[in-house]
Amino acid sequence: MRHIGEFELQRVVESEEPLIAPDNFFPESTPDVFAEHAHWLQPRYVDPVSGKLVICVQSYIVRTPRHIIVVDACVGNDKERAVFPQWHHQQSNYLADLAAAGVRPEQVDFVMCTHLHTDHVGWNTRLLDGRWVPTFPNARYIFARDEYRQAEAQMRLDASAGHPQAFADSVLPVMEAGQAVLVDNDHEIDHGVWLEPAPGHTPGNVVVNLTSGGDSAVLSGDVIHHPVQLLRPEWSSRACEDRPQSRRTRRDFIERYADTDTLIAPAHFPSPSLGYIIGQDDHFGYRDA
Ligand SMILES: [Zn+2]
Repeated sequence: MRHIGEFELQRVVESEEPLIAPDNFFPESTPDVFAEHAHWLQPRYVDPVSGKLVICVQSYIVRTPRHIIVVDACVGNDKERAVFPQWHHQQSNYLADLAAAGVRPEQVDFVMCTHLHTDHVGWNTRLLDGRWVPTFPNARYIFARDEYRQAEAQMRLDASAGHPQAFADSVLPVMEAGQAVLVDNDHEIDHGVWLEPAPGHTPGNVVVNLTSGGDSAVLSGDVIHHPVQLLRPEWSSRACEDRPQSRRTRRDFIERYADTDTLIAPAHFPSPSLGYIIGQDDHFGYRDA
């Protein structure tokens, strides 16, 4: 548990493992960077045995004095994900871990996905008697309107593709249940909790800013996937839909928060995930919170 002014920030980790080879995820990556920085990257961020990037999939839970907010909803259980074999029909202890964090699904007031990719929407819904129903029965689910429209259009183009599958089983049922709220890219969810556009990874990608009592944090989603990108901010991932725009957004983000006391909470950094960006020019790093 981390305090940001009056807010409390917690993580609920769904999975954390060496997941993907660097050149598979970052097409522009070169082995020399990983070799030169092995002392820093291994074993925490890069698995020394397989060479794969360690990737965490998690939700952030924000408690304000008024509300409980879940940011990013992981992969989910029972989802048909043949396109992502490692997540196909996944069974995790997410709900038990959420309960261990002191949160029952019915207590959640808002669910917010930084973008609508498979690994950020899954727990929006759960399988009940063969149907996908909202996991959080009393929550309003906040979706950035631009992101929702783009993801909906992608689903109409090819409903069998990976992320559109997730839209169909993890976003549409929320809309059909009347729990979705489409908002502008700078929407304020609660006092001191607001969205900010961060396009590139997806067209309507946003980050979630937290400010309370002079403290600040950014739940940065997939603006930056892995700490190695602090060494090479220009590396966009294969999952980035507009790689040049993603690169610009990431560089701006890193430069803006480097050597500040704004806490960074990326979606996929290995545990403990939370930290501060340090450095300048092209020599950036990460310091645990
Ligand atoms: Zn992601």
